[in-house]
Amino acid sequence: MKNFTYTKAENVQHAIHLLSQNGRAKFLGGGTNLVDLMRENIEHPDVLVDVTGLPLNQIKELPSGGVSIGAAVKNTAVANHRIIRDHYPFLSQAILFGASGQIRNMATVGGNLMQRTRCYYFYDDAANCNKRNPGSGCDAIKGFNRIHAILGTSDSCIATHPSDMCVALIALDTTVHVEGTNGKRTIPFNDFHRLPENTPHIETDLQPDELITSIEIPLLDFTKNSLYRKVRDRSSYAFALVSVAAALEIENGMIKNVRLALGGVAHKPWRAYEAEKVLIGAEATAETFRRATEAELANAQGYTYNSFKIELAKRTIVSVLSELTEKGGAQ
Ligand code: SF4
Repeated sequence: MKNFTYTKAENVQHAIHLLSQNGRAKFLGGGTNLVDLMRENIEHPDVLVDVTGLPLNQIKELPSGGVSIGAAVKNTAVANHRIIRDHYPFLSQAILFGASGQIRNMATVGGNLMQRTRCYYFYDDAANCNKRNPGSGCDAIKGFNRIHAILGTSDSCIATHPSDMCVALIALDTTVHVEGTNGKRTIPFNDFHRLPENTPHIETDLQPDELITSIEIPLLDFTKNSLYRKVRDRSSYAFALVSVAAALEIENGMIKNVRLALGGVAHKPWRAYEAEKVLIGAEATAETFRRATEAELANAQGYTYNSFKIELAKRTIVSVLSELTEKGGAQ
């Protein structure tokens, strides 16, 4: 591991100042991904700015009825919070399906959003990887790509985003609050993570001097009827081959409201807007659900070892929506 300087930020402005002073500085939250990457010589920052002492560790109910979650709140605290369990149960489920108890106790909300792909070739510094070394190529495209993306891929990168939590957050129309040397701004969750295109090394809309301060989830009363399903090679401590986050409201047999997102299939958490268009106002039947999946996966592209994900995603969506319908989507 390369030598680096460690500094504990005194407040948000201090943290931003420290980052803006050095182009090779990184914020350190729980360190559950960044420190691994430093040990593997994939990330080699000059400076680590520890942001764990900043006052960003609150979960607050908003006057609007939504909830604000500070960027330094631990994943475990989010999953176990009363508001999250009561109003957004699939967010709690998604977090608890991720990593291990020990990692969730350390990992922060901000860090979860910023975690990097688990593509094998990204972690192997002998492999060609446009994300790690722009312009070097992508060994995954013709390599062992069983865990890789089927939606929104490019000739430069077919990596997936590894988060479970972010799949529920994108379904919930979450907003990301950030602060940098130019002040504060908000980013809709769907715009926060990027598709690879020809710059897979640029993964988010976050500017080099910006710090995530919180996320905000609006109140959607029907999200009590929600479910997160994660399909993976083993039942714990594995990343999703495909995951589905869905919330459903049914009235008189018709779909009144739906939120649907996929994980394990793209470079970013994937909001299933095409499927939602088919579902809204339609009869809540397995035939409708299947039609919605066909619309969403119409442009999916499989590679040598991951084409199975296309049908797997369709079946998982149908299964989740059917279960939510049985549970009584009209809550
Ligand atoms: Fe690198 Fe992306 Fe290719 Fe993986 S899929 S080797 S992260 S460029």
